Amino acid sequence: MTNVLEHPTFKRITDRVGKFNLKGKKLLIPDMAPIGARLFAASFRSFGVDAEVMETCKGLDLGKAFTSGKECYPCQVTLGDVLFHLNREKERLGKDFSPENYVYFLPEADGPCRFGMYNKFQRLVLDRFPQFADVRIAYLSTADAYSTEGILPPEEASLFRKLSYVGMVVVDVLDRITWRVRPYERIPGSTDRLIEEAVRKLEALLSERGRKLPFKEMYEIVEDTAEKAKALIDYRIPRKPKIGIVGEIYLRTHPGSNQNLIRLIERFGGEVVNASLSEWFNFVSYEGLRKLSREIRLAWHLRYHRSLWPFTKRLIAQGLEVGYQTIRQRQVYRRVLDKLDIQPDHSVWRIESHLRKSGLFSFQIGTEAALSIGGAIEYILEGFDGIVNVFPFTCMPSTVCAAILRPILARYRIPYLDVAYDDSIQPNREMAIRTFVYQASQRRFQKAKGA
Ligand code: SF4
Repeated sequence: MTNVLEHPTFKRITDRVGKFNLKGKKLLIPDMAPIGARLFAASFRSFGVDAEVMETCKGLDLGKAFTSGKECYPCQVTLGDVLFHLNREKERLGKDFSPENYVYFLPEADGPCRFGMYNKFQRLVLDRFPQFADVRIAYLSTADAYSTEGILPPEEASLFRKLSYVGMVVVDVLDRITWRVRPYERIPGSTDRLIEEAVRKLEALLSERGRKLPFKEMYEIVEDTAEKAKALIDYRIPRKPKIGIVGEIYLRTHPGSNQNLIRLIERFGGEVVNASLSEWFNFVSYEGLRKLSREIRLAWHLRYHRSLWPFTKRLIAQGLEVGYQTIRQRQVYRRVLDKLDIQPDHSVWRIESHLRKSGLFSFQIGTEAALSIGGAIEYILEGFDGIVNVFPFTCMPSTVCAAILRPILARYRIPYLDVAYDDSIQPNREMAIRTFVYQASQRRFQKAKGA
């Protein structure tokens, strides 16, 4: 009997989806978090990878044409992005188009939800186009805490990981500066212009000298941006209701998919803080630590003593990684908090501790639901006036999160809104968001009165 893994379809998936050396390739990065994608691509460029952020949402019709409708919305959007981009490249280059020069970057998550299958599914779709069958798909996976080994030479993988982590924290901080200042700016558009200027400086710095880990210069750019941003605020405008966003990471960070939710809330009179990119990354690293501790306990229990040392070595390495991330994150926030009162980030440890004490959910179940539920509790403790849970229509972890959060927030009389997105425009959505922001402002008003 032939091994099913030797079947040509499975072979395509194992041979053409994986961790490949990206050197000398054109790496296509989906535009998830706009600033984040740009800095991530710049970081790759400094390691000799010709990385480019694909234009987003232009190919949504293609994404929908090659999916059945049962896939999550981010899968349709990213599939559309890559098909649109490759078609355009083929048109531009004609005979010179070489699919083997391209690698499409699509990370994955292990665990119970569909994100682990996007890249395999999209492989099958790309294979339906003979001209794109040789475009490979590279991923980083939560299974090994997004290890970059395999896509870059070992001596560079660790440097790249450090650079991209600090880059991600910088992105979070620039976003938080924007959300703190934009609702109060004296000159409309001035915050966006200032942030764009900072992003360009960072892009140039990372592309040219990223592999030298220029953290000092990166910190200086964000610190300087925070100082300048502070000067943009009109302090006569009273503070607005604070709205905390939780939910599925792609939807909440991709303005094209969430129909510019953050700006809409701001337009209706709210001040927004979205859950950060680093929160998810820290959660994945923390989960890595927990898994290894579990393996060690199991090996001890089953008397597999030979496995103990290798697991312990990995645990120490993972612990150092987590410690490194914590220190770097604190450094970046401290530099900015000295200049401007942005919202500090949530700690994964604290989130877990709240969940454990309240018995609402457990990190052991995994998925983003743990972070969304715990993150919402953090927002409440921090005095936020309303919580929004944003997710793709039918998203499994976010539906779990909605089921748990809605009754709790109702009990505490905190305005709460679930917003599920696909590409449809719902006529009542704006009204729902407007009403929600009004409720949050009422809550803020009542709090101020001491009611
Ligand atoms: S988190 Fe939600 S949107 Fe993402 S793959 Fe899982 S079910 Fe789909």
